Amino acid sequence: MKIPEQIINQLKENFNTDISEFEASHTQTVPVSVRLNPLKPACGFEFGESVPWTSNAFYLPERPIFTNDPLFHAGCYYVQEASSMFVELAFTQTVDTSKKLIVLDACAAPGGKSTLLASLLNEKSLLVSNEVISTRVPVLTHNMAKWGSLNSMVTNSDPKDFSRLPNFFDVMVVDAPCSGSGLFRKQEDAIEHWSEENVNHCNLRQQRILADLLPALKEDGVLIYSTCSYSMEENENMCDYLCEHFPLESIQLKTQAEWGITETHSTKHKAHGYRFFPHLTQGEGFFLACFKKKSIEEVNPNRNQHKLFKKISADENDSLKKLINTDNLDFVTFYDDICGFNKSVTYEVNKVTSALKIKKLPFHIGQLKGKDFVPHPYLAYQNIISNAVIKSDVDASTALQYLRKQPFTLPDSSNGFSLLTYKNFNLGWMKNLGNRINNYYPADWRILKEIF
Ligand code: SAM
Repeated sequence: MKIPEQIINQLKENFNTDISEFEASHTQTVPVSVRLNPLKPACGFEFGESVPWTSNAFYLPERPIFTNDPLFHAGCYYVQEASSMFVELAFTQTVDTSKKLIVLDACAAPGGKSTLLASLLNEKSLLVSNEVISTRVPVLTHNMAKWGSLNSMVTNSDPKDFSRLPNFFDVMVVDAPCSGSGLFRKQEDAIEHWSEENVNHCNLRQQRILADLLPALKEDGVLIYSTCSYSMEENENMCDYLCEHFPLESIQLKTQAEWGITETHSTKHKAHGYRFFPHLTQGEGFFLACFKKKSIEEVNPNRNQHKLFKKISADENDSLKKLINTDNLDFVTFYDDICGFNKSVTYEVNKVTSALKIKKLPFHIGQLKGKDFVPHPYLAYQNIISNAVIKSDVDASTALQYLRKQPFTLPDSSNGFSLLTYKNFNLGWMKNLGNRINNYYPADWRILKEIF
């Protein structure tokens, strides 16, 4: 692999990088790491060392076939590159996680940072995971639904639309689209698409995204900015741009020397940045910087009318109580689904719904169809389901048949809707009709390939 000269020169001149070690690290195997879901921590593979700058995450001795592990499909863990898990340290060192927090993950698909953030927030809080590119929304929704947190919603809006939510968020995570040089080792084709013009193009886009989003950050709110690029234009110089154009103050983080993270300082404002180099840390190239917003801009009065949700009917309410534990929850009708959220965020969910394009509310429960209450696929992964709901625990091979939507049988199961589980973790819904079982696993989530 030939790393572009412009990157090499910049690293040599500005960060005293040992270029032969940096280049050699690009011929080594990419470490594989997983982060466990604190709501249902389990994984079908043996762990190696833990990832030092985060909790609940481990390296694996080799890359297994995750598709064949039903626990992967149950949302028990997320396969995530280790460096990017540094967002946890940035978040926990800059934010009081015991408080109610309204958090935006502005560039969220496929959901690595969002699943991490959802696990750091308490149940009174709300995470808005936004992805502007609509073709990337389904993977984000899938990952967030399976993660099963009750505090997160998914939106599909342009950064410009956030001007409708002035001074709204306590924290904003902007994992910006970038030139991707930090991923050269992982995605070899990234090198073919790299060019100086593209770095500049990405930088202008990063500036636009931040300028659009920042009015939605509250005073004293925290901005966490990250990229997977080595280019200063997208990292330290971007920090200077932010300090120059917005009321932002850089925040220093505490790291440990043995982790091998490189602390950098931007040229003009000496903003603190944190770089991950693959020859110094066990992970891919990554950059992160944190800021506090010191004052708020004048904003136009928000004339948006709240798009009020439709209330649920008395029959729907009765059906719900048989299926889920309803304490502290508010229920509404969203399109045809009965959905809900914690009462602590009713105001914020309504505000976000009036301003942005909603793809998933904190939880979706299902629909009353005649006398039958049809549970929503997402509900299977949220631990509000009543103990009265019947579950059938199956072995790995039956679990995989279910996940492929192939026919399968169960020795004895009662009629009606029930959950299929593997090692007691929910995989999805099925309906037993007596002579056959209807598989309610969503068709677009099914495993398509046989992998051995
Ligand atoms: N945070 C994600 C994670 O941890 O899984 C990865 C995000 S990726 C680095 C950047 C995201 O920004 C992509 O999903 C991309 O679709 C989105 N994006 C692309 N153009 C954008 C734009 N103009 N405004 C906002 N987001 C954009």
